[in-house]
Amino acid sequence: MAKIINVIKGTKDILPQEAGAWQKLEETALEVFSKYGYHEIRTPIFEATELFARGVGDTTDIVKKELYTFEQSDRSLTMRREKTAGVVRSFIENGMSRLSPPVKLWYKGPMFRYERPQAGRQRQFHQVGVEMFGVKQPAADAEVILLAVNYLKALGLNDLEVEINSLGCPACREAYKAKIKEVLKPEFENLCEDCQTRYEKNPLRLLDCKVESCKAIFEKPEIKKVIQSDFICEECAVHFSTLKSYLDKTGIKYVENKLLVRGLDYYNRTVFEIKSNNLGSQNAVCGGGRYDSLVRNLGGEDTPAVGWAMGMERLNSLLPEVPVSKIDAYIVSTSPADAFELAEELRAAGKSVEFDLANKKFTKQLEKASKVANYALILGEDEIKANKVSVKNLETSEQKTVSRDMVLSLI
Ligand SMILES: [Zn+2]
Ligand SMILES: [Zn+2]
Repeated sequence: MAKIINVIKGTKDILPQEAGAWQKLEETALEVFSKYGYHEIRTPIFEATELFARGVGDTTDIVKKELYTFEQSDRSLTMRREKTAGVVRSFIENGMSRLSPPVKLWYKGPMFRYERPQAGRQRQFHQVGVEMFGVKQPAADAEVILLAVNYLKALGLNDLEVEINSLGCPACREAYKAKIKEVLKPEFENLCEDCQTRYEKNPLRLLDCKVESCKAIFEKPEIKKVIQSDFICEECAVHFSTLKSYLDKTGIKYVENKLLVRGLDYYNRTVFEIKSNNLGSQNAVCGGGRYDSLVRNLGGEDTPAVGWAMGMERLNSLLPEVPVSKIDAYIVSTSPADAFELAEELRAAGKSVEFDLANKKFTKQLEKASKVANYALILGEDEIKANKVSVKNLETSEQKTVSRDMVLSLI
């Protein structure tokens, strides 16, 4: 026998019995996002490497080690690691800034990152997300947060907690960065290796370090005081408090978290995360924020933007399994020709119907019918002669013989 070829480490098949759960995530997305006026966008899986380098900024860890990059015809191409850069590229390239704002887009699909596979982290993973372009007012931030909460609720995830923070604008953030560097300077040697790198390039990103020794440093009173200080300027503060007043109005529970900075460098003002307490443990299921400078950085006109993404594997792990659905009817017949005819008739009328293509024994066919269908349609020699069908309800075992044109009304 030939050698078996296995799936690549860090990737996974979504098998037929799992597909129902994925379809539910996607169908619910279409349903909920449409209510808010969002339209789906599908962009290519790979793009010019430069897009990701410029999009997320050279300083992040992502660009350094997590991208799948390859050469083709002297061009460096990269598999998307997230979708925002590709959506922004398409927004610019297709002149969407000329449309009357806001431009509201949503997406779903596979993303790729090269990292050590571990529970719940794959190299090919899936995200669903939204991006809204053209509105600088905090109502846009509030709407995308509401949209995320309502999507999660529609999926059946309750007990949600929204965390929000404001990273300020470039003007007010610089002073904050400088203060953080200053207060952490005496602790530099005690910071983890990643934090030591971030210290120069983007000190804000130190704050979401998950290493315990770093977290302990940020808890020291004199350091905590600086981290928790209100650094944002008047305009940023008004934006943030207006956002909070909208959330209050809609009854969304939220908490402010000054340590919430999100992984990417391009965020400004609002950042947020949504956690779910489903199944006992707390899990972050959604992350997003405002990125007013990204469109300009990628060569477009100055366009404010806000959005979020959710990991679909994580969502799936929190939701109950969706059972594989049964078909409407299975035809049990001694005559494939007659079965073909009846099956096509019923399919054309909108029913899901199967029959035994291999023409196995009657009892085998009945056995199969009871496993996969709600009704068995028995088409034996007597029935065929009389132009009738015996319709058996496989749940109640009730059976009656009716004329062929009655079948549709019974299943
Ligand atoms: Zn500001
Ligand atoms: Zn650290």
